[in-house]
Amino acid sequence: MSASPDWLFFRSALLAWYRPERRPMPWKAHPDPYCIWLSEIILQQTRVEQGLPYYERFVEAYPTVGDLAAAEDAAVMKLWEGLGYYSRARNLLKAARYVVAQYGGEFPATYEGLLTLPGVGPYTAAAIASFAFGAQVAVLDGNVFRILARFANDATPADTGPGRKHFGALASAALGDAAAPLYNQAIMDFGALVCTPRKPACPSCPLRTHCRGYALATWPELPGKTKKMARRTRYFHYLVITDRAGNTIVQQRLEKDIWQELFQFPLIETAQAGGQVTDLVHHPDWPGWLPAGELRLEKSSPPYQQQLTHQTIEAVFHTFTWEQMPKKISGYALIKNKMFIKFAFPRVITRFLADKRLLLDLFS
Ligand code: SF4
Repeated sequence: MSASPDWLFFRSALLAWYRPERRPMPWKAHPDPYCIWLSEIILQQTRVEQGLPYYERFVEAYPTVGDLAAAEDAAVMKLWEGLGYYSRARNLLKAARYVVAQYGGEFPATYEGLLTLPGVGPYTAAAIASFAFGAQVAVLDGNVFRILARFANDATPADTGPGRKHFGALASAALGDAAAPLYNQAIMDFGALVCTPRKPACPSCPLRTHCRGYALATWPELPGKTKKMARRTRYFHYLVITDRAGNTIVQQRLEKDIWQELFQFPLIETAQAGGQVTDLVHHPDWPGWLPAGELRLEKSSPPYQQQLTHQTIEAVFHTFTWEQMPKKISGYALIKNKMFIKFAFPRVITRFLADKRLLLDLFS
């Protein structure tokens, strides 16, 4: 076995394997920077099957970056609803407005210029620069870390600054003088179809003869990782308070936390699961303006769960009637049930609403 991995073999075999039609992407035939950017942001931490309908809806609603820049924030958040990682939607808007304000509506054509856009990191900048403008720069994301680490049998953790730098050097060596647009497309498809995280197709892999991770059977432990962040469960109690006219109290999440800018019902977060509504009344999160004595509890739901990257959210919905609800509550909005459709809620709330059949009523 040679001292350093055979990168010439690596890129030649990868390019010989590549067929664009194996993994159709909507923009492959028309490498427009706006479409590439949009799809890359949507597909970050999202499966292609889940992300593509969102991509199509966005392109239809906002065919150009100028259209997106002029969109209302709430409309974009609503279109994003259900996709998660909402900071991506906020950055999408910021970046579109930045492209219009700073670059006259044209995406910058260089890797460095693209990195100035909000929400665009090295991976997305490299993808746009190479696919749309032919720049000679290698993409580097979780898929690429995995392929390079396995091929080279390199256990350096990729989730640290020095680790990323190390893999950046490997990625450039692997790219060499291959045409970057083609090579980047090939390695992304290869990570999705062959050298997958759990069950790579090693027996039929075109890199197998030179893959050190395969030869040494180390591939299941690669890429190396630093210590994992502990997962925690959070317990949310939502107060779904409605008056006789069908108004419900909602608020926007503005604090630096999950689901920033999404809407929710008044929330009490407890340290443990369970607990009675009578206990919640004495909780410090119970809103000072809400007179417990005037509420009639209709029902408490079973717990609904939503898994996030490092957190599990367990939410219980307590539905109340409040006959004398005031017309205005500072910091909250009172909305009719049929207006729910206009607000972006976290998935755990939309699931509750759907179960209550409220959403069905809205469409009838
Ligand atoms: S042989 Fe297996 S581990 Fe090595 S690159 Fe191919 S699929 Fe990945």
